Amino acid sequence: MKTVGYAAYSSDAKMAPYHFERRALRANDVAIEILYSGVCHSDLHTVNGDWGPQSYPLVPGHEIIGRVVEVGPDVQRYQVGDKVGVGCMVDSCQACDQCDHDEEQFCREGVTPTYGEPDRVNGETTQGGYSKHIIVREEFVLRVPDALDLSRAAPILCAGITTFSPLRTWNVGSGSRVGVIGLGGLGHMAVKLAVAMGAEVTVLSRSKKKAQEARALGATGILSSTDSDAMTEAAASLDLIIDTVPVQHDVSIYTPLLDIDGTLVIVGQVGPMDEFMTIPMIMGRRRVAGSLIGGIKQTQEVLDFCAEHDIHPLCEIIRPDQVNEAFAAMEKGDIAHRYVMDMSSLSVES
Ligand SMILES: [Zn+2]
Ligand SMILES: [Zn+2]
Repeated sequence: MKTVGYAAYSSDAKMAPYHFERRALRANDVAIEILYSGVCHSDLHTVNGDWGPQSYPLVPGHEIIGRVVEVGPDVQRYQVGDKVGVGCMVDSCQACDQCDHDEEQFCREGVTPTYGEPDRVNGETTQGGYSKHIIVREEFVLRVPDALDLSRAAPILCAGITTFSPLRTWNVGSGSRVGVIGLGGLGHMAVKLAVAMGAEVTVLSRSKKKAQEARALGATGILSSTDSDAMTEAAASLDLIIDTVPVQHDVSIYTPLLDIDGTLVIVGQVGPMDEFMTIPMIMGRRRVAGSLIGGIKQTQEVLDFCAEHDIHPLCEIIRPDQVNEAFAAMEKGDIAHRYVMDMSSLSVES
C-alpha cells in the first residue's frame, strides 16, 4: 500500500515528507487510514537519537486514531469503517507469561514498538503514526468508543495509558491522595484520570505559576517544591506520586511527601539519576518504582474510562507540516497540552 508521512532522515534533520509503502495485508491485519496523530515527547527523543542509534528515514508517532479501510480474511473484531486506535505497540510474541496476562509491554521476547524496530515477520523497520495509513495486526488495534471526540482522543493512547496504568497498579480510588509531578502531556492526563477515580490530587511543581491550570484540571492544590516550609508541612501526606518529568531531576525532594508505604512512580524516561537520599525510603518503607505504558487490554480500558468520564486530553490541532514547530516548542519546556496532527491535509498523490 502506497502511503505518505513525515519522517526524520537523520538525527539532526528536520521532519520532512516521505513517500513509502506499507506492507501487503496479512490474514490477521487491519489497514487503517490515520485521521489524527499525537506528538509525544518520545518521538522527539527517538528521532534525535537520544535513546540510541536509529534506522532512517524514521516515521515516529504512537498516538494514532483512524478508520479501518481494509481487513485481512482472518480478522474477527473489526470491519471497514470502524473507529480505531493504535498506541505504542504493534506486536509481541503472544505466547509468554506476560503476553498471557495482558502485559504485552513486558513481553519476554521484547514487544514490537509502533516505530523504529524490526517487524517480527519481515524484519522491516516499523513506521509510526505521522503518516496517512498504518497496517497493524488485529490484536494490537483498539476500539475508539463513540463518546470520544476523534480529534482529541489520540493522546490517550500513550500519555493516557502511561498514567492510567500506575494509578490502577497502586489501586487509586476514592480518598487516595495522589501527587503529580509535572503538568505536561502526561501530567495533565494523570490529574484528570486520578480525579475521575475519586482521588484527591495535588500538583507538584517548581513554581505556583500553574496553580490555575492545576485547579482547572480538578486538582485540589499545587505544592511548590521550592517552598521549603510548604514541603515540610506536606510531609507524609501522599499515598502515590506520579512523576512525569521527562528530564533529569532530583526525586529525593519528593519522597518525604509520601506516607508510610507510599510509592513514587517514574513514568518519564529520564536516564541516569543523580544520587538520591535513601533515608526516607528506609524510614517509611517508601518505594520508588517505574511503569511502562500498559497492556492492550488496559489500553482499551483507559479509552473506555475516558469515554465514560468525558475525559479528553487538552489538544492543540496542527497540520503535519507544523510538526517541526511543535518539536521546537516541546524542547523548550513542558506544555500542558498535546499537539495532535490532523492528517487530512496529507495526500498520497501529492
Ligand atoms: Zn509516547
Ligand atoms: Zn510475549
